[in-house]
Amino acid sequence: SQASPFLYCGKIAQSDSLAVLHLKRDLLIPVVLHSRDDLDEGYDEGKVTNTRFGSFPHSTLIGAPWGSQVRASAVDTGSRGRKGWEGSGRKGRKRKRDEQFHNERGTEKEANTDAQNGGILSKADVIRNQDTVATPKAAVEAASGFVHILPPTPEIWTASLPHRTQVVYTPDYSYILHRIRARPGTVLIEAGAGSGSFTHAAARAVYNGSSTAEQGESEFKGLDEDPYGKVYSFEFHEQRAQKLKDELQEHGLDNVVELTHRDVCQDGFIPFQTTPSDMNTNAIFLDLPAPWLALKHLTRGGPSSPLDPRTSIHLCTFSPCIEQVQRTITTLRQLGWLEIEMVEIAAKRIEVRRERVGLQEEGLRGANDSPASVDEAVARLREVEGRLRVFHEESAFDGKGLSPATAGAQVSKQQRLENIRNALEGRKLYKEGRLVHKPEPELKTHTSYLVFAVLPREWTEEDELGAQRLWPGTV
Ligand code: SAM
Repeated sequence: SQASPFLYCGKIAQSDSLAVLHLKRDLLIPVVLHSRDDLDEGYDEGKVTNTRFGSFPHSTLIGAPWGSQVRASAVDTGSRGRKGWEGSGRKGRKRKRDEQFHNERGTEKEANTDAQNGGILSKADVIRNQDTVATPKAAVEAASGFVHILPPTPEIWTASLPHRTQVVYTPDYSYILHRIRARPGTVLIEAGAGSGSFTHAAARAVYNGSSTAEQGESEFKGLDEDPYGKVYSFEFHEQRAQKLKDELQEHGLDNVVELTHRDVCQDGFIPFQTTPSDMNTNAIFLDLPAPWLALKHLTRGGPSSPLDPRTSIHLCTFSPCIEQVQRTITTLRQLGWLEIEMVEIAAKRIEVRRERVGLQEEGLRGANDSPASVDEAVARLREVEGRLRVFHEESAFDGKGLSPATAGAQVSKQQRLENIRNALEGRKLYKEGRLVHKPEPELKTHTSYLVFAVLPREWTEEDELGAQRLWPGTV
């Protein structure tokens, strides 16, 4: 069977496999790539994904090394008649500006709006290329955009997945997976699965197959056999469960994740047709409104327990309010869980940029003239870039056909620009100035309290006999 791109993505984007188009920061679109071979005759370019930055026939994406920048097709295959491409009016100008600088960070508001429609102009994200462009102007504009093509990873999936619920974000799940000791071979119980954000990260963490780059692409064995290392996932909302099941299958993760449609508080954690003693679970993550109601099904109860009797069990619950935490902790204590601890993750993203000062040449400020703030540093940077742009535009001037006065003014301007050019020659602008940084105001993370606990290894008859031998009469 085909390798899951989440477990081994190879070096290039493949047909019939998931890729993620990175339009700009915080705007990513997941797309299953289809070549013309996957389609009926007559679609030479394969399927086409239309975005606000242009149209991308899949023939231009399939085979691209991951991380490549891909330019929009010169033929706009689906945006005919849509407002905004012509750049008219305030919205149009904004869109144009956005397209021009689309690799820069958008505002949160923009990102949210984009996220709602997925940054996609058409209703369907994939449109066949039978509609050719209406006007040459639209074609040029469509062709001016680009995307970067990225392999699907759980982190990228979290940033691009269709939200059906609140999701667990990367800062939380990376810490959670570390604390519950998820590693290749771990058997992990998860409830509720929701949109599958945590599920994907958990699947990668526990997968124990031969899918690493060291073993080489050709040696990848796929997931034909049930690998040791598994996620038992539960979700009681029927449509959500079905949607996630389809996604897991499409992503080649259905052999690592077994998803059951189930109310775990009522019916526990043993999937249908599974013998509890075969599960041997050693890690648990509960993202439920009332995790304390599910804990009674996670005890060491002999043959009906899904827990591995040979190992300690590491658990995490994820709850937005402190009253839920209190109820969970009370129940954990009643049921014999130890090392109970609550953690809140407050991750910050730090913006780091180089402030380009220290250009003492004509028209540029001196090294000692330090800016008072990051905003001022950014303003200066823009100014330097503006001057460079002017220089590049005007250095193409050849002085012909101008009046002597204009030509004279132009010559002195030319001279000035020449001075700047000489001053900049050989300098690595990206290394100029000093680094400045500031925390970004908002990070997409759903603030919740994480409760961790450990259930010790089961006390066996052998342990009891050993203890009696060592300390007769005291135990
Ligand atoms: N962890 C998920 C993610 O990262 O995408 C998000 C989980 S969402 C916040 C909580 C989910 O728990 C919802 O989809 C809800 O339907 C499910 N749920 C609530 N109570 C449940 C129960 N008793 N049994 C199974 N699932 C339940």
